[in-house]
Amino acid sequence: MKAVPGEGSEEAKVIFVGEGPGGQEDAQGRPFVGAAGKLLDELLASIRLKRDEVYITNIVKCRPPNNRPPRKNESAACMDYLRRQIALIHPKVICPMGNSAIRALVNPSEYDSVSSLHGMPLEVESVTYLPMYHPAAALYTSSLRRVMEEDFRKLRGILDCLVE
Ligand code: URA
Repeated sequence: MKAVPGEGSEEAKVIFVGEGPGGQEDAQGRPFVGAAGKLLDELLASIRLKRDEVYITNIVKCRPPNNRPPRKNESAACMDYLRRQIALIHPKVICPMGNSAIRALVNPSEYDSVSSLHGMPLEVESVTYLPMYHPAAALYTSSLRRVMEEDFRKLRGILDCLVE
Protein backbone atom coordinates (compact mmCIF):
# COMPACT_ATOMS: atom_id res chain seq x y z
CA MET A 1 0.00 0.00 0.00
CA LYS A 2 1.40 3.32 -1.10
CA ALA A 3 0.34 6.93 -0.73
CA VAL A 4 -0.43 8.53 -4.09
CA PRO A 5 0.38 12.24 -3.84
CA GLY A 6 0.10 13.03 -7.55
CA GLU A 7 2.46 13.49 -10.49
CA GLY A 8 3.17 15.67 -13.48
CA SER A 9 4.72 18.95 -14.43
CA GLU A 10 5.43 21.60 -11.81
CA GLU A 11 4.72 24.09 -14.57
CA ALA A 12 1.42 22.55 -15.60
CA LYS A 13 -1.24 24.96 -16.82
CA VAL A 14 -3.91 22.44 -15.89
CA ILE A 15 -4.45 20.14 -12.90
CA PHE A 16 -6.82 17.17 -13.01
CA VAL A 17 -8.23 16.08 -9.66
CA GLY A 18 -9.90 12.70 -9.22
CA GLU A 19 -11.46 11.10 -6.17
CA GLY A 20 -8.84 8.80 -4.68
CA PRO A 21 -6.44 6.01 -5.61
CA GLY A 22 -7.85 2.65 -6.73
CA GLY A 23 -6.13 -0.72 -6.53
CA GLN A 24 -3.55 -0.17 -9.29
CA GLU A 25 -2.71 3.29 -8.03
CA ASP A 26 -2.33 1.96 -4.49
CA ALA A 27 0.10 -0.69 -5.74
CA GLN A 28 2.20 1.69 -7.88
CA GLY A 29 1.98 4.94 -5.91
CA ARG A 30 0.92 6.79 -9.08
CA PRO A 31 -2.45 8.36 -9.92
CA PHE A 32 -4.71 7.15 -12.73
CA VAL A 33 -2.68 4.17 -13.93
CA GLY A 34 -5.59 1.68 -14.20
CA ALA A 35 -8.45 1.50 -16.69
CA ALA A 36 -9.74 5.01 -15.87
CA GLY A 37 -6.19 6.30 -16.29
CA LYS A 38 -5.92 4.73 -19.74
CA LEU A 39 -9.07 6.60 -20.77
CA LEU A 40 -7.71 9.81 -19.23
CA ASP A 41 -4.52 9.38 -21.30
CA GLU A 42 -6.63 8.94 -24.45
CA LEU A 43 -8.68 12.04 -23.68
CA LEU A 44 -5.50 14.03 -23.08
CA ALA A 45 -4.05 12.79 -26.37
CA SER A 46 -7.30 13.77 -28.15
CA ILE A 47 -6.48 17.43 -27.35
CA ARG A 48 -2.73 17.06 -27.90
CA LEU A 49 -1.76 17.02 -24.24
CA LYS A 50 0.74 14.61 -22.73
CA ARG A 51 0.59 13.31 -19.18
CA ASP A 52 3.91 14.93 -18.35
CA GLU A 53 2.65 18.38 -19.41
CA VAL A 54 -0.22 18.37 -16.91
CA TYR A 55 -0.52 17.55 -13.21
CA ILE A 56 -2.75 14.68 -12.04
CA THR A 57 -3.81 14.11 -8.45
CA ASN A 58 -6.75 13.15 -6.26
CA ILE A 59 -8.75 14.58 -3.38
CA VAL A 60 -7.53 11.84 -1.02
CA LYS A 61 -4.01 10.51 -1.31
CA CYS A 62 -4.60 7.02 0.14
CA ARG A 63 -6.98 4.35 -1.09
CA PRO A 64 -10.14 4.12 1.02
CA PRO A 65 -10.81 0.54 2.23
CA ASN A 66 -12.73 -1.60 -0.30
CA ASN A 67 -12.61 1.27 -2.80
CA ARG A 68 -15.46 3.10 -1.05
CA PRO A 69 -15.85 6.83 -1.72
CA PRO A 70 -13.80 8.98 0.64
CA ARG A 71 -15.64 10.18 3.74
CA LYS A 72 -16.00 13.89 4.45
CA ASN A 73 -13.42 13.82 7.22
CA GLU A 74 -10.94 11.98 4.95
CA SER A 75 -11.37 14.53 2.17
CA ALA A 76 -11.09 17.35 4.69
CA ALA A 77 -7.86 15.86 6.08
CA CYS A 78 -6.25 15.90 2.62
CA MET A 79 -7.51 19.34 1.51
CA ASP A 80 -4.64 21.30 2.95
CA TYR A 81 -2.16 19.17 1.00
CA LEU A 82 -4.15 19.64 -2.22
CA ARG A 83 -4.39 23.39 -1.66
CA ARG A 84 -0.59 23.53 -1.25
CA GLN A 85 -0.09 21.50 -4.44
CA ILE A 86 -2.34 23.95 -6.28
CA ALA A 87 -0.53 26.95 -4.79
CA LEU A 88 2.89 25.57 -5.82
CA ILE A 89 1.90 24.65 -9.36
CA HIS A 90 -0.24 27.72 -9.81
CA PRO A 91 -2.34 26.31 -12.68
CA LYS A 92 -4.60 28.39 -14.91
CA VAL A 93 -7.23 25.63 -15.08
CA ILE A 94 -8.38 23.05 -12.51
CA CYS A 95 -10.51 20.12 -13.68
CA PRO A 96 -12.27 18.36 -10.81
CA MET A 97 -13.40 14.99 -12.17
CA GLY A 98 -16.53 13.45 -10.66
CA ASN A 99 -18.80 14.44 -7.80
CA SER A 100 -16.32 14.01 -4.92
CA ALA A 101 -13.76 16.33 -6.52
CA ILE A 102 -16.41 18.81 -7.67
CA ARG A 103 -17.91 18.96 -4.15
CA ALA A 104 -14.52 19.43 -2.54
CA LEU A 105 -13.23 22.08 -4.95
CA VAL A 106 -16.20 23.92 -6.43
CA ASN A 107 -18.60 23.74 -3.51
CA PRO A 108 -21.81 23.57 -5.57
CA SER A 109 -25.29 23.73 -4.11
CA GLU A 110 -26.54 20.39 -2.78
CA TYR A 111 -28.80 20.08 -5.83
CA ASP A 112 -25.98 20.31 -8.37
CA SER A 113 -23.96 17.34 -9.51
CA VAL A 114 -21.55 16.51 -12.29
CA SER A 115 -24.43 16.01 -14.73
CA SER A 116 -25.41 19.68 -14.49
CA LEU A 117 -21.95 21.19 -13.91
CA HIS A 118 -19.66 19.35 -16.34
CA GLY A 119 -18.18 21.44 -19.13
CA MET A 120 -19.23 24.73 -17.52
CA PRO A 121 -16.19 26.86 -16.76
CA LEU A 122 -16.27 28.83 -13.53
CA GLU A 123 -13.70 31.53 -12.86
CA VAL A 124 -12.56 32.06 -9.27
CA GLU A 125 -9.68 34.42 -8.49
CA SER A 126 -8.15 34.14 -11.99
CA VAL A 127 -8.33 30.33 -12.01
CA THR A 128 -10.81 28.57 -14.30
CA TYR A 129 -12.52 25.53 -12.79
CA LEU A 130 -13.83 23.16 -15.45
CA PRO A 131 -15.82 20.33 -13.83
CA MET A 132 -15.75 17.04 -15.72
CA TYR A 133 -17.14 13.56 -15.43
CA HIS A 134 -14.80 11.09 -13.79
CA PRO A 135 -13.25 8.89 -16.52
CA ALA A 136 -14.49 5.77 -14.68
CA ALA A 137 -18.07 6.96 -15.35
CA ALA A 138 -17.44 6.65 -19.09
CA LEU A 139 -16.18 3.09 -18.57
CA TYR A 140 -19.56 2.17 -17.09
CA THR A 141 -21.74 4.34 -19.34
CA SER A 142 -20.17 4.36 -22.78
CA SER A 143 -22.30 7.27 -24.06
CA LEU A 144 -20.43 9.52 -21.61
CA ARG A 145 -17.23 9.14 -23.58
CA ARG A 146 -18.55 11.54 -26.24
CA VAL A 147 -19.56 13.99 -23.52
CA MET A 148 -16.07 13.79 -22.02
CA GLU A 149 -14.47 14.29 -25.43
CA GLU A 150 -16.56 17.43 -25.88
CA ASP A 151 -15.56 18.71 -22.42
CA PHE A 152 -11.90 18.08 -23.25
CA ARG A 153 -12.34 20.10 -26.45
CA LYS A 154 -13.64 22.94 -24.26
CA LEU A 155 -10.51 22.59 -22.15
CA ARG A 156 -8.38 22.84 -25.32
CA GLY A 157 -10.24 26.03 -26.24
CA ILE A 158 -9.60 27.53 -22.79
CA LEU A 159 -5.89 26.63 -22.92
CA ASP A 160 -5.56 28.06 -26.44
CA CYS A 161 -6.98 31.38 -25.23
CA LEU A 162 -4.49 31.76 -22.37
CA VAL A 163 -2.06 34.62 -22.72
CA GLU A 164 1.47 33.78 -21.60
N1 URA B 1 -9.84 6.94 -9.76
C1 URA B 1 -9.48 8.08 -9.14
O1 URA B 1 -10.32 8.87 -8.74
N2 URA B 1 -8.18 8.32 -9.00
C2 URA B 1 -7.22 7.52 -9.43
O2 URA B 1 -6.05 7.85 -9.26
C3 URA B 1 -7.63 6.35 -10.10
C4 URA B 1 -8.94 6.07 -10.24
